[in-house]
Amino acid sequence: MIRFLAGLLLAAAAFAGPPVRVLIVTGGHEHSLSFYSLFDDPSMIVAVNPHPIAFTTDFRDRADVLVLYDLIPNMPEEEKRNHLRAFVESGKGVVVLHHAIIDHQSWPWWYEDVVGGRYLLDSAGGMPASKAGHEERMLVTVAKKHPVTEGLADFAIEDETYKGMWISPKVQVLLTTDNPNNDAPVVWLGTHPKARVVYIQLGHGSLAHHNPNYQRLVRNAILWAAGN
Ligand SMILES: [Zn+2]
Repeated sequence: MIRFLAGLLLAAAAFAGPPVRVLIVTGGHEHSLSFYSLFDDPSMIVAVNPHPIAFTTDFRDRADVLVLYDLIPNMPEEEKRNHLRAFVESGKGVVVLHHAIIDHQSWPWWYEDVVGGRYLLDSAGGMPASKAGHEERMLVTVAKKHPVTEGLADFAIEDETYKGMWISPKVQVLLTTDNPNNDAPVVWLGTHPKARVVYIQLGHGSLAHHNPNYQRLVRNAILWAAGN
């Protein structure tokens, strides 16, 4: 019996694997302390590196999954772009949260070939600027079964709405909402052929951060993006 239990524990440990090394990048937007409660999880080892130094070095050896919660509309420095591009092209994981969809407004590779979406700060490509609305109740529906949506049923959340984003026809939409002030897709898989990229529109403040469905969603996304 003891040997059987020991075997089970070993199997569980092997299944869990080593903790995922998560690098969170912030900067450009204030945020609630509750954001960090999302990462208080034994399956992750987490570092936080805000702008402007976040991309000044090659971070491929330091992280499995990059979590973006920054709002940097433009990062023109070639060296920083190269470090971010090298991380993506090495096939690592990227989880883009909420306002980080505003990042890199003038870097088409980023919003077309990685994230598959962009919140438009200004009108572009014949589309008007996107719009945000605050603290709205949103009903969120699971559109596709996927490891990122595992354990989630349809749920309600109080959060910020985003309307009129440019969204690539190539993304795989995982969660949607019928809130009229929001675009239908709220979570999707990005467009990069090698990196595992997830965009989660939700997550403005503590109402979202304390929502167990949101917590589950972010955790699932990070573990999937890590290749687990
Ligand atoms: Zn917000």
